[in-house]
This record gives sequence, structure tokens and C-alpha cells, in this order.
Amino acid sequence: MSESGRLRIAVQKSGRLSDDSIALLKAIGIKLNIRDRLLIAHSTNQPIDLLRVRDDDIPGLVMDGVVDLGFIGENELEEKMLERKAAGKASEFEVLRRLDYGGCRLSIAVPKEASYNGIGSLEKKRVATTYPYLLERYFAEQKVNAKAVMLTGSVEVAPRAGVADAICDLVSTGATLEANGLVEKDVIFRSKAVLIQRADGDLSDEKLALINRLIPRIDGVMQAKESKYIMLHAPKAYLEQVKSLLPGAENPTVLPLAGNDELVAVHVVSSENLFWETMEKLKSLGCSSILVMPIEKMMG
Ligand code: ATP
Ligand code: MG
Repeated sequence: MSESGRLRIAVQKSGRLSDDSIALLKAIGIKLNIRDRLLIAHSTNQPIDLLRVRDDDIPGLVMDGVVDLGFIGENELEEKMLERKAAGKASEFEVLRRLDYGGCRLSIAVPKEASYNGIGSLEKKRVATTYPYLLERYFAEQKVNAKAVMLTGSVEVAPRAGVADAICDLVSTGATLEANGLVEKDVIFRSKAVLIQRADGDLSDEKLALINRLIPRIDGVMQAKESKYIMLHAPKAYLEQVKSLLPGAENPTVLPLAGNDELVAVHVVSSENLFWETMEKLKSLGCSSILVMPIEKMMG
């Protein structure tokens, strides 16, 4: 395969991971010109090309070195690793970061009228799933002799259609299960989106240098989402109590207030959101003008 100088990143073309992955790339300063029908999008300000594909293809594209980076759900990544292992294929890659989106769980669910007393109830039963390798591994760990039936879609209707006795599918809110008369029983895998990189021995120094600049920016974006900038006026006499109420406020900036000897302005970057309860406690200590503001970017 010819090696272009541009970093190739695979993202899901259209699905649950697409918007968040693109938003993250934009947030770390990569300008993208995405045309809906095109497989490839070129960045206009970085030597980066985006390959937009089905999420099923992303682990293989990274592990075979066709792309350098990929955004993928851990569920799909783990399933593909098991599949490649079974086929005797190598799966070399590195997880660079676990991201803060794409959260879901792979769960076993049964029709609500079915009797279920733990995974042993599935002995000799058929379970429909899109993740047969993860499910078979779970059966083996649990020493249950059940059969995974592979379906690529509409898994949730399999019991009603008489195709399977139970299902093993991705769940986030549980609304789809409920709509299909199913009850979630066992969580077999918890997943989030991850950023993966192909084996770095195959990457040029230029590409590695670019990746090493992008990663701290991803950290900065994720950290900023979790953090808040808090400003308030606090009575000098209660400064210590006020500090102890603010999460991550070891070193606040404390400034005098013009024309007021009793109050000081306190500014702090908090590692967490400030809950209403805490704001009420601050108020009862005599604090005022309490502002909680989002942070867009953070570094170092
Ligand atoms: P594709 O056409 O790309 O193959 P898909 O139908 O396989 O799409 P999506 O439903 O878009 O995939 O889900 C992609 C990933 O999003 C999942 O593999 C999982 O990691 C994550 N995800 C988060 N929440 C959910 C959810 N409630 N249901 C399914 N997937 C979820
Ligand atoms: Mg898919």
C-alpha cells in the first residue's frame, strides 16, 4: 500500500458515533469539509484525511494498517478482535484514549413473560445477537451451554419471530427493549467509544508527531467538558469554609472587591459541576453573585 503523508482517520459514516466523533475532531482544531455522499473528507488546515465507513469496518482498517487512527465503540472493537483471533489473524493496535461518548452496555434480555433465574436459565437455548463472539465468550466463562444466533439487524424482534429464546443486544436507555416486551437481565459488556491507532512501528515520524499534538487537545476538550469556571463573592471570614465546598479549589484566585472590606472575589476552575445544593450552602455562608460558567478549552 502506498504511504501518503496525510494522517488517515476512520470514523463511522452515519450512526450513533458519527456526530460526536466529528464534533471532537472539530473541537481539536481540525477543519473538515464533509460532503454527505463521499467516502473521503479532506481537512483543509491539517494533513488529515477522514475515511467515512461502517463502524464494523473500522477495527480491521486500523489493524490492517489501512488507516492510522479510528474512532470505534469498544463493543465492536472487542468483537472484531475475537473474530480475527478465531480466524488466526493478528490484531495489533493501541487504544490511545477512552472517550466520553458512545456509552452503552451489551445485555442479555428475555421476553417479559419468560421465567429467568440467572444465566443458567439459558441452558440449551438460542440467543440472537450481532455480537456472537462476545456472547459465546460469556457463555464459556459462565459455563452455560447456549447457542448464539447471529443476526445483523432487528435482533429485538427475534424472540417474537420465534427465531430465538432471548437476545443479547446494545442498550442505553432500555426503551427499545421495553417497546419489544423484553426485560434486561445480565450486562455482559460495558462500552464507550475509543480512539485507536495502528501499530506505531508502521507510522512515519511526521504522523506520530501530529498524533502527539492531537492527543493533548483531546484531553483538553474532555477535561473542559467536565470542568467549570466558578466566580463568587465570599465573606473573608468564611474563606476556608467556602474553599472546602468547592470541588478542586485548592488554589483559588482571591481578589479584593473595590469599596468592600468584608467580601472578596473568589475565582476557581472546578473539576466538577457545582450542584444547586452546594450553591445554597455557599449562599447561607454569605456568598453572593455565584456564577458557574462552562469552559471551552483547557491546556496544562
Ligand atoms: P453501521 O451502519 O455503521 O454499521 P450500526 O448500526 O452498526 O452502524 P450504530 O447503531 O450507529 O451502529 O451504533 C454504533 C455504536 O454506537 C455501537 O457499536 C455502540 O458502540 C454505540 N452505541 C451507543 N449507544 C448505543 C445504543 N443505545 N444502541 C446501539 N449502539 C450504541
Ligand atoms: Mg455496524
